[in-house]
Amino acid sequence: MLADIHNHTKQFSPDAQMDIGELLDAAVKRGLDVVGVTEHFEYDNPDPMDIVQVFDMDEYERVFGTWKDRCPDGLKLIKGIEFGYQSHTAADIDEFALKIPFDVVILSNHIFGNRDVYYGGPELYDMPKKERHAIYIGKMAEMCERCNNYNVAAHFDYINRYNPDTEEYLLYDDCPEEFDRFLGALAAKDKCLEINTRSIYKAQVRGCSRIMPDERIIRRYLELGGRLISLGSDSHTPDTLGVLFDETIEYLNTLGVKELCYFINREPVLYGI
Ligand SMILES: [Zn+2]
Ligand SMILES: [Zn+2]
Repeated sequence: MLADIHNHTKQFSPDAQMDIGELLDAAVKRGLDVVGVTEHFEYDNPDPMDIVQVFDMDEYERVFGTWKDRCPDGLKLIKGIEFGYQSHTAADIDEFALKIPFDVVILSNHIFGNRDVYYGGPELYDMPKKERHAIYIGKMAEMCERCNNYNVAAHFDYINRYNPDTEEYLLYDDCPEEFDRFLGALAAKDKCLEINTRSIYKAQVRGCSRIMPDERIIRRYLELGGRLISLGSDSHTPDTLGVLFDETIEYLNTLGVKELCYFINREPVLYGI
């Protein structure tokens, strides 16, 4: 059983390069049982480099119906969305999340200091690492505390994904207070922690000596009562569907994780690993 619940297509996510046909073909080829489409919806994005990432939800709902008809037997296609969080958009996100019947709602924090981390450039990394990580994980905590109509917190390691220093690594010990707030909010609300294998893949491509997330982050989540973990390759192209899932599952097994989940009608479906 393999479920990759975080992916993008070019019809609704302007930074993606695959269409739904390519995604479905790649999912079958990779041997996935479940594939999720979670298009970007970044309301009031302050980064001038980011293209507009909002769309008509009713149109998405309509088009998704046609995608479901094209889904091959044996593959489950789930309807999701990835909301980009900012402090002033929390209430809007909670409202948008109820507009159409999603299977899964993912929340992300892409913005740091009014720039998308993707475009933040080297100056983003001038700030001492612990300070940078505390601000970023503190914002993840705020997002999970203030929003309610979501299921998954995505790529908590996004802040480090494009770091030119390949030896810098996001550690629980960089900001334990912020991590406890973030992981504690997920556990208390029975929300899901995503392990984003695009971040792991990017770390591998960049030649980082550590590529898997810090084991203390995952152990702490379990300690605080967190029970839901999902995998997402966050693919924008067909070649990375389910990337490094086998290695990540093996790693999670060593930390005592025995179940992962995907979502149908906003309810978690657990499966053993
Ligand atoms: Zn994202
Ligand atoms: Zn994404």
